[in-house]
Amino acid sequence: MNQQLKEIFDFTKISDDCIKCGKCIPVCTIHNVNADEVTSPRGFIDLLGAYKRGNLELDKAAKDIFESCFLCTNCVEVCPNDLPTDMIIEQVRNDIRKKYGLAWYKRVFFFLLRNRKIMDILARLGYVFQTCGFKIKEKQSAMEPRFSLPIIKKDRLLATASKKSFLNSYEDVIKNGGKAKVGIFIGCLANYSYTDTGKALLEILKVLEIDVYLIKKQLCCGAPAYFTGDFDTVEYLSKHNIEYFETFMDDLDAIIIPEATCSAMIKIDYEHFYHDDKIWRNRARIVSKKIYMATEWLHNNTSLKDILAKKGQNSDLLITYHDPCHAKKMQGIEKEPRDLLKQNYKFKEMSDSNRCCGFGGVTMQTEKFHFAKAAGVPKATMIKETKADIVSAECSACRMQITNSLYDEEVDVVFKNPIELIAKALKD
Ligand code: SF4
Ligand code: SF4
Repeated sequence: MNQQLKEIFDFTKISDDCIKCGKCIPVCTIHNVNADEVTSPRGFIDLLGAYKRGNLELDKAAKDIFESCFLCTNCVEVCPNDLPTDMIIEQVRNDIRKKYGLAWYKRVFFFLLRNRKIMDILARLGYVFQTCGFKIKEKQSAMEPRFSLPIIKKDRLLATASKKSFLNSYEDVIKNGGKAKVGIFIGCLANYSYTDTGKALLEILKVLEIDVYLIKKQLCCGAPAYFTGDFDTVEYLSKHNIEYFETFMDDLDAIIIPEATCSAMIKIDYEHFYHDDKIWRNRARIVSKKIYMATEWLHNNTSLKDILAKKGQNSDLLITYHDPCHAKKMQGIEKEPRDLLKQNYKFKEMSDSNRCCGFGGVTMQTEKFHFAKAAGVPKATMIKETKADIVSAECSACRMQITNSLYDEEVDVVFKNPIELIAKALKD
């Protein structure tokens, strides 16, 4: 194992290196909604150190504590010693999964992520029958359950299923003039629900005369399973994607992803996942060099900004931008989407664009949804204060969570991926 990665996963060293300064506590998403020392980065690190030394049993109480972290990385950003609290929590969740197994609905969900054909059929059935169980909210591209389900309670919004998935709606190869050639990794939520994001990305690439390869056999990046501790599923999905990408990536200038979480997973977390497997770590590292968030690559490698600038401010809409944790904190992407959006739209920053929206992953969106709901309130409030018409973020998980928080707090602001706003500006 290389030394740097070895240190990242040395729980005892991390525990010893925590100087208990408490700088992480005010920014911790879970501590802000559950103010207890054990649900703080400092508390998590202390408990993980005790667990590795054999002084803490992984009982139900410990399981509950370690499943309360949102994995937002706020703590890592402010920690003077750069302690990777999120990464060691991801590791211990695998131990929890091995000891307690996975809830039935998580097993079903991760099975579907491994089997795209079955997922395609179920998504189609979901589209046909969703009005039976859900009230559709057209404005938000969302739906509200008509009654409480075992794992999803009433009074919340979920993403609707689209009539046809993004990947099944277009040809494998789209020739636009050959100025460059990119692959698109679309992610599951944008493939089955927020399909306007992929459509908008294709429209932008057409204007830029860039050829597209749709990467039709892509599977889920594995992030939902990684954050839940199902490392068997992560291994299956990541190996499939790495092997598949290797067959064509030398022919592409980039693989672009309009999704912060999928991009961070493939670009950064695959390598972390294979920290003790030299061969797969190197393969993940080579693949990562081709992976970019969509706004990042379009901003830095094409004439898109100049084209938008020539159009000038052609919209009266006021936009505010939320920084997805997996974009800004993990990949350093914050300037690029703003720079593109500001060419055509009025723009106002919210008071804390860096504050986690509170999505938190599968467990947080189901068993611990009360935490996600509470973490969403400050984000909805600061969006309301901007008086923006639209809140934007390059992440469908943020989209689902923020849309729900806005609905809960009765804030009349719509969510759009920046890619959709840029495509609209090109057409106006
Ligand atoms: S990753 Fe986020 S929620 Fe988890 S300990 Fe760090 S700041 Fe708190
Ligand atoms: S900021 Fe870092 S060193 Fe300080 S208490 Fe938090 S984890 Fe420990």
